[in-house]
Amino acid sequence: MTDIDKHGATDFVLSSEHLSQKPLEVSNADFIKIAFQGLAYQAGEGNSPCPLGVRFHGDPCHGNWTAVRLVNESIPSAADENNYYTLSVFRPDKAGKYSRKKELFSAQYVIGLDDVTPKVIARQDNKAQIPFDRITLAPSYVLETSENNFQVGFFLKQPITDPRKADELSKAIIAAGLSDPGAGGPTARLMRLPVGCNGKKHPPFQCRLRVWEPGCCYTPEEIFAGLGLKLTPEHLQTTAIPIIQPSQVSGGSSVFTPSPEFNIVLETLKSKGMVKKRTSSGKYEITCPWRSEHTDMADTGAEYWEPDEHHPVGGFKCLHGHCAGRNIKDLLEFLGVNPEDAYMFPRITIRPGEAKRIVIAVNTVLAQTGYFFQRSGRIVRVVRCGLEGRLAVEEVNASCLLVDLSSLTRWQHYDGRSKQMSVCDPPTKYLQAILEGGNHTPLPELIGITRQPSVKEDGAIRTESGYDPETKLYGDFKASDFTVPEAPTKEDAERALNGIEALLKEFPFEEECDRSAAVAAILTAVIRAQLRVAPMFHVRAHLPGSGKSYLTYLIAIFATGDDVGASNFPTNDEECQKLLISLLLPAPPVIMFDNLTTDIFPHKSLCMVLTEPVVSGRILGASRVTELSTRTLILSSGNNVGPIRDMTRRVVPIYLNPTEELPVTRQYKRPELLEEVKKQRGKYVSCALTIIAAWIRAGSPKTPSLRTLNSYSQWSDLCRYPLLWLGRPDPAQRVFEVMTEDPEREQVGAVFDAIHGYFEKRPFTVRDLAQWVEAHAVNSEVFGIFEEAGLVCGYALDRKRSGWWLKHHEGWNVNDKKLIRIKKSGKLPTYQLV
Ligand SMILES: [Zn+2]
Repeated sequence: MTDIDKHGATDFVLSSEHLSQKPLEVSNADFIKIAFQGLAYQAGEGNSPCPLGVRFHGDPCHGNWTAVRLVNESIPSAADENNYYTLSVFRPDKAGKYSRKKELFSAQYVIGLDDVTPKVIARQDNKAQIPFDRITLAPSYVLETSENNFQVGFFLKQPITDPRKADELSKAIIAAGLSDPGAGGPTARLMRLPVGCNGKKHPPFQCRLRVWEPGCCYTPEEIFAGLGLKLTPEHLQTTAIPIIQPSQVSGGSSVFTPSPEFNIVLETLKSKGMVKKRTSSGKYEITCPWRSEHTDMADTGAEYWEPDEHHPVGGFKCLHGHCAGRNIKDLLEFLGVNPEDAYMFPRITIRPGEAKRIVIAVNTVLAQTGYFFQRSGRIVRVVRCGLEGRLAVEEVNASCLLVDLSSLTRWQHYDGRSKQMSVCDPPTKYLQAILEGGNHTPLPELIGITRQPSVKEDGAIRTESGYDPETKLYGDFKASDFTVPEAPTKEDAERALNGIEALLKEFPFEEECDRSAAVAAILTAVIRAQLRVAPMFHVRAHLPGSGKSYLTYLIAIFATGDDVGASNFPTNDEECQKLLISLLLPAPPVIMFDNLTTDIFPHKSLCMVLTEPVVSGRILGASRVTELSTRTLILSSGNNVGPIRDMTRRVVPIYLNPTEELPVTRQYKRPELLEEVKKQRGKYVSCALTIIAAWIRAGSPKTPSLRTLNSYSQWSDLCRYPLLWLGRPDPAQRVFEVMTEDPEREQVGAVFDAIHGYFEKRPFTVRDLAQWVEAHAVNSEVFGIFEEAGLVCGYALDRKRSGWWLKHHEGWNVNDKKLIRIKKSGKLPTYQLV
């Protein structure tokens, strides 16, 4: 047994040879302790989740199935009793009582298969039997529960805490024919403990543990692969969401009823012996209730299918002519099932005075879909849009909520006239309350979408797609496209960096720091959603055709595989604000300004987007203000234009400088570069992830005395230091150059120097300045500096302008001098250069 590869993809097939001849001795307490990873022992006190069990003497038909907690001494050990345990752990209800209820599910630890046998024999009860050769994954244990009949269990490495994921796995097991559809939900399922007897047999059969390999434990994915299970198609990948405490929605008179655990129609059909077999996912061949009307009374041609998107109460069809007009309604009538009970939806009951709990209940239902979230206090959903099916974030409005709720819930209210519950649409006032109520507690917060795996703080790579409660990001990607070494070394990082630099070979970077900046832009593109804030990148050239657009598009591919459209750079702040809000609304991976014809003006809104993780703004056509995440990569390019003033410290310039006279005529050796990279996006993105992960694993080494870039320390850590660590120049070098060259800074520096030359570190007011400047001749150097800065009027200092100027430049640090205001009270503020 021990030589079996534990990762599932093996040629393992269970056979009688794997079974130990002598029953293995493992106590029930040890079994529980190992299966639940010690949890039962910690669960001793208070209201912590706990595995449950049942025990009784004799025939299970007359057994007492009340569940008890399996903790320490309460774990049954009598060999002459029927002893069972649950595959999952459960929370207590409000009253502190434990029971095997779906809504109390906390986590699943074991996958169990029943009725596994070396020899499938025809039986009367039609229960699914699993032949040994279907067990293609080495079990954690095999328990013989009657002669030649086995229960097989697989321990999970990490428990499944998402009830939907547990359900999904259970459905996949049923779909693969490895479990009886009627065996009950994954949560309520019971399996026998190793020590105990099967009282169904006469005399009782002593259970025998025949395989005990607790080291063979698996992730759900390995179970899928190992047992050849297939996922049932879902609207979107389901994602791990925090478990919702039912106490938030239940209690008092109920406004919320979870969706039925069992399909009553299927159960009724089964109890009447009408189900012949399951034909495909959710479809059953059944005996037609009107069989007697069929030609020759043939027991054929009738089908029932379980509720789905298009058949809210399920479907029925019989091919026989006499049944032509019959549908699910007739079947329900025949079965005596109230059509309302056939809806497999959670139910909201409108009761006066319960608005708050109704709102929480709806938020709970939305949270469980895995594609509804809250963003800055508003309900949003992630949707695929466009032909390419790119994932975007969309704010939910009342109409959209009404439509979505109709396929997620049933609403009802008490009708005074008919004196019974009557189904209704969600009333508008509730829709408004749900949307505007502000508190969306059970809905997970969404910060953004990432199109690739992310790097965790410890350097591990999060490869699961879907929602990550830790980072609050929604991963929209195929995990198998990406391969990052488990513990990347500096050598791995070096190799990965060479891989990325090979793509940049043909670009005519002016200096090595420009190449470094391009790589930093690529790293930023890959992890942008993880960074609170990041600078903008601007590719600048002197002549058209230098490849600047090409380089920006190459960088963009690292942020997304989708096509990226370019916008015109706005000419004023108002336009800029409108544009940025509308662009940021769907949480795009990239915003691109291609081929700028003006300098990058420090529009206030753009400055904010580059230094604040969240910005607010008015949505066009709506009267309200919304808050949006700014976790989007911003790129631009242009000839002979670049960032000015306040933008200089927010933009990393990348200079291209081709040596040919006419770069337009330049021949590229890899004209299909963008397509190539797009096709192998996973490979190249993995290179970027490897570089960052390796740097973190190496202890995040930082080059001492590197100039800091205000507001971008997290970005510096993950996108700047790794390149310095690998011996490349500082990608931010140009930022400091441009900041130094910036005309306004130059002027401010000159004024600071002049003031410092006289006042040194002494405090001064505008009046002091004026007296000093006016003491100089008009053509003196000092006077000239203030004149150039626009601060004089005739022969005197313009006091009003100068006051404004000092206020505006408070906090500036130029030429190693920082202007601070030391006294705020009084008519004249006092400043100082430090
Ligand atoms: Zn029929």
